[in-house]
Amino acid sequence: MTTVVNYFKSLLLIELCKGLLLTGRYLFSRKITVQYPDEKTPYSHRFRGLHALRRYANGEERCIACKLCEAVCPALAITIEAEPRSDGSRRTTRYDIDLAKCIFCGFCEESCPVDSIVETRVYEYHGESRGDLLMTKEKLLAVGDKLEQQIAADRALDARYR
Ligand code: SF4
Ligand code: SF4
Repeated sequence: MTTVVNYFKSLLLIELCKGLLLTGRYLFSRKITVQYPDEKTPYSHRFRGLHALRRYANGEERCIACKLCEAVCPALAITIEAEPRSDGSRRTTRYDIDLAKCIFCGFCEESCPVDSIVETRVYEYHGESRGDLLMTKEKLLAVGDKLEQQIAADRALDARYR
């Protein structure tokens, strides 16, 4: 009996009509396609994108080379070398993040005691060779300098939810 019903169903193109009906319904409903990059969807201030190293207002690097971020990184993406300065303070001489290894877990920024390494909202970046995805200390500080206003605003917003 089922075979006969299925035979007539296929003969009358029932499934095809059902499909077309569904397509027709969406043809006139509100469009949800976003015309990226002209249009963008909203995203959280906690978005974990491109990394940055921050400075204090006087221009001094925040990072004290404690290496907590390097120790906590599950992807072993962070490499730090450090030595004491003439004034006795500890600062990094090398701070690299290999974005080809990074899984954007956010552990580095969570572990940092001085809010130095952060993940910004920037997700529109690319590399054409492996070296482009190696974020050196200079590159990270440059990102931090450029986006400090937004980073500080996002951190302030975050503090309100703690
Ligand atoms: S986001 Fe996670 S994986 Fe990426 S550098 Fe930080 S700790 Fe490592
Ligand atoms: S970025 Fe933060 S956690 Fe990492 S070495 Fe510097 S101070 Fe320590």
